Amino acid sequence: MNELIKEDFLSLDLAELQAKIVSYGFPKYRAKQIFDWMYKGKDFSQMINLPEKMREFLAGNASLNLPVIQKKLVSGIDGTAKYLLRLSDGNYIESVLMRYKYGLSICVSSQCGCRMGCRFCASTIGGKVRDLLPSEILGQIVAVSADCGERISHVVMMGIGEPLDNYDNVIAFLRLVNLPEGLNIGYRNISLSTCGLVPNILRLAKEKFPITLSVSLHASDDSTRSAIMPVNNRYPIAELLSACNSYQNDTGRRISFEYTLISGKNDSRAAAEKLAAILKKYMEKSVHVNLIPLNPVTERDFKTTTPAFAEAFCRTLLKNGVNATVRRTLGPDINASCGQLRRSETAKSDK
Ligand code: SAH
Repeated sequence: MNELIKEDFLSLDLAELQAKIVSYGFPKYRAKQIFDWMYKGKDFSQMINLPEKMREFLAGNASLNLPVIQKKLVSGIDGTAKYLLRLSDGNYIESVLMRYKYGLSICVSSQCGCRMGCRFCASTIGGKVRDLLPSEILGQIVAVSADCGERISHVVMMGIGEPLDNYDNVIAFLRLVNLPEGLNIGYRNISLSTCGLVPNILRLAKEKFPITLSVSLHASDDSTRSAIMPVNNRYPIAELLSACNSYQNDTGRRISFEYTLISGKNDSRAAAEKLAAILKKYMEKSVHVNLIPLNPVTERDFKTTTPAFAEAFCRTLLKNGVNATVRRTLGPDINASCGQLRRSETAKSDK
């Protein structure tokens, strides 16, 4: 039986799981036992305090949809670990585990592939295969945490996919990840990155999760942005920044902007001045700009900026009153930017 059409247990909260277990004719207290096991990354056959018959029944009728670790690359420089994970239908996604002073942070994928078409990004080559289920987003944290044997305290939705293009499942995931009886990860420790789907930024603002929104801006004028991010043709910069103001006003949370520096495309001093000017013109509250030197992608023709250009860009923003930092590259020896490991695995199985 296809795992994806079985009852999707890891997408349920405890009350929903209890109702399901009772509907199968099992006692309600069994649900909490199952819940605790599945958050430890154990499958039905390993749930040793359940009767064998029940384990067999569950294995036949339900699935945890926990991704399985196919490959793991660990940086010898900073301990960053990049995981290639296999989904129950054989598709691949990636997660990255990062070690900070404040704890472990995981970067999770929200879709298998992506249909946004950003020109510099590896995840969108080959388009979108499918949306991830809430269980498959949560399962990345469960599987990686079980693998490293430590609690993960922070989550960034910056992996493969556009989270706001898989809106309902991402919202369900955000509810699940925060459950005190589950992973209990606070909303303030979660950030979600979007390429700028304006209607869903406005919808998300109304949900009032106090998560941080990161917006991938990458350019300070519409023609440059449209040339590298097709989504800009639909939702140009002024509209996007207006949605960002609504988000800040509705949630009280600060927005951060991501700006990938691409040599000769968007990394000039004039671009930095323009960026400072539009942020000051449109944004009502203070924002932070994360400058990310482009991680070159084999299939793409873009070159990364130089450290000197990145520093100069940052100084120009600061001088013009805009908060900015150049993001430290984590796991430089394992090529930790997203989509590339999945690409190489998918290309192998295509042959
Ligand atoms: N779809 C979402 C989240 C996934 S991408 C978004 O667009 O925000 C996470 C971040 O990595 C985005 O800012 C994205 O633009 C950036 N990114 C993608 N490819 C990159 C590359 N090759 N080098 C540097 N940053 C990249």
